[in-house]
Amino acid sequence: MNEHRITVAGVAVDTRHWIGGERIASAGTFTDVSPIDGSALGEIARGGPAEAAAAVAAAKAAFPGWAATPRAERARILHAIADGVEKRIEELAIVETTDNGALLRSHRRGVMPRVAHNFRFFADWLLTLDHEDFGTRGHTNHVSWDPAGPCVLITPWNAPLMLATWKVAPALAAGNTVVLKPAEWSPLTASLLADIAAEAGLPAGVLNVVQGHGSEIGDALTSNPDVRRISFTGSVPTARRIAESAAANLTPLSLELGGKSPLLVFADTDLDLAVDLAVEQYDNAGQVCLAATRLLVEESVAEEFTRRFVDRATALKQGDPRDEATDIGPNIHSRQLEKIDGFVQRALASGARAVIGGHRGDGRYYAPTLLTDVRQDSEIVQEEVFGPVLTLQTFTDEDEAIRLANDTRFGLAATVATGSRERAERVTARLVAGTVWVNCFFVRDLQAPFGGSRLSGVGREGGTWSFDFYCDLKNTVTAPNGWKNHG
Ligand code: NAD
Repeated sequence: MNEHRITVAGVAVDTRHWIGGERIASAGTFTDVSPIDGSALGEIARGGPAEAAAAVAAAKAAFPGWAATPRAERARILHAIADGVEKRIEELAIVETTDNGALLRSHRRGVMPRVAHNFRFFADWLLTLDHEDFGTRGHTNHVSWDPAGPCVLITPWNAPLMLATWKVAPALAAGNTVVLKPAEWSPLTASLLADIAAEAGLPAGVLNVVQGHGSEIGDALTSNPDVRRISFTGSVPTARRIAESAAANLTPLSLELGGKSPLLVFADTDLDLAVDLAVEQYDNAGQVCLAATRLLVEESVAEEFTRRFVDRATALKQGDPRDEATDIGPNIHSRQLEKIDGFVQRALASGARAVIGGHRGDGRYYAPTLLTDVRQDSEIVQEEVFGPVLTLQTFTDEDEAIRLANDTRFGLAATVATGSRERAERVTARLVAGTVWVNCFFVRDLQAPFGGSRLSGVGREGGTWSFDFYCDLKNTVTAPNGWKNHG
């Protein structure tokens, strides 16, 4: 064990950057803290402009070789990375839980298998990527997806490896090289991914991982003229700064941002199903961009819905996310808790009523909260809290439900609970959202487009849309004549 390796829940993690196939230290470090108990997990290399430049240079140098690697070979290596993830699911799950506080049982059963699937899916999709030629007056128009170049991928802390690989896999499949910058609050699984990719035979420099505070290393990554794509998942204010920085080189951006999504509960729904969907919004202690944090319930069933919701929500077990029985873990850091509590206390001060919760719990936990008597134009209804805080408003008809649902600056997702297929069709057609769920939540096929409308994002990724973003699309028009060799 050397000074640059820490052991987290029995798993060795290198704390240095991964640049050009080598581990690189920085002069400075930052302390990575576990949200479970506030303990220091270790000192992580703290990158700045020099590390950003080195990583982009490594990605640039590796690009021609990887771009020229046949699709089938790229796909083979991505499958080998998926194999490596599958072999290490237990290790990845416990390290992620220790680092960001999300439930171990979710990491084991849902998240890490999905990480492997991200690589398998985009490897397979790459091999099917094709477009029929267009004919124009005897000329053929042939469409190709050409690798674009080095990509900078910047990710948040709430689902670190899932969100990173959702970008890394298609970017690599497309023949691009990557500089991944994980969030400073949960950097560890990105380092493990670098190990797995190297073991899978990914050539040096094709995937680089740099760590550090976004404010110190971010600008040097996003303003670098050799970067050909930036994909960012995170908050709206950071997205604005990245867009400004990328503007210098007009670097194409994909932005997956925050939300304030509604759950519309109509009186014709199976109320228990609607309550299940509502309680699910406390997952990951409410730190889910897609969470339907605004419950909009038809007035005639609101009282009964609330009664059943309170029964279910108060039975949730809050505690150590490593415990199988735990339903709600801690919030990521004390600043986040203060932010959450600030939103709640301001709402209470302006007339909201806490049906449950409304205060901090022990340590880094926030009591699951449901607020009623909230105004549509109030901060608590309009702004993303990113904690276990839901609001409940009532409506009397479909038009009012849709008006309330669409009346924020966001448009990431919406969920509709109804027993009527006709109503579902009418309502979903009028909702402004990148993803709409009907009588379900969170299920999504990787072939489908993902992203947000309005302030929830710019662009879509998923299936062919990912390749459209990570590639330079080319149309080659060939004349029917002019050939000299007729062999
Ligand atoms: P954040 O914007 O604070 O940070 C995200 C990442 O950006 C981190 O890696 C951070 O270091 C980096 N960063 C910060 N400043 C930067 C700069 N100037 N240049 C480049 N990079 C910089 O977001 P967060 O608090 O980590 O994450 C929570 C937010 O992410 C919420 O708003 C949530 O809704 C959103 N989110 C969206 C999705 C989605 O798919 N739409 C998914 C998960 C989270």
